[in-house]
Amino acid sequence: MPRVPHGTIDQFIEHFTLAIAARAEQVLMRSAAGRSKAGAGGPRMCPNPGCTRPGAGPRNRWFCREHARSVPEREQRRMLAERKVANQTAARAARAAEGGLKLDMRCRVARCKTMSRGPRFGYMCDKHLSKLSSKEQSVARQKWNLAHAATSPGRTRTSESAETR
Ligand SMILES: [Zn+2]
Ligand SMILES: [Zn+2]
Repeated sequence: MPRVPHGTIDQFIEHFTLAIAARAEQVLMRSAAGRSKAGAGGPRMCPNPGCTRPGAGPRNRWFCREHARSVPEREQRRMLAERKVANQTAARAARAAEGGLKLDMRCRVARCKTMSRGPRFGYMCDKHLSKLSSKEQSVARQKWNLAHAATSPGRTRTSESAETR
């Protein structure tokens, strides 16, 4: 391996950074355009993959006039089922990305009541983020996961925190 002089690396990094910035801009512009095109309240589109025509109402299962006639009913139902699954998956992913309903933001350290800074910070609060080593943090997370795995699915085992009495 030949050694690369420092100047070259700097140039490379600069070039790379500029390329990334340009690319990010492109992506942002494209996604903004896509959002306004398929915005909320827009016409419901034909579920046939690749078709860009608006659907011809619920009686045609929202297929466009052409596809409502040309695609056999069984095929239409299959496409709708597929689309439903895809939509559900997308919705779930979007919810998870937004933070989700069930995302527990509490700091994973036992008895710490502070809110953590979320998954990107390993669910550690500011204090524990700086106080604990990454190993200690992961141990705390494991303990927390174990404790919460036992209570979440059935909530039958509420050993110590008895609700009655
Ligand atoms: Zn169509
Ligand atoms: Zn904490």
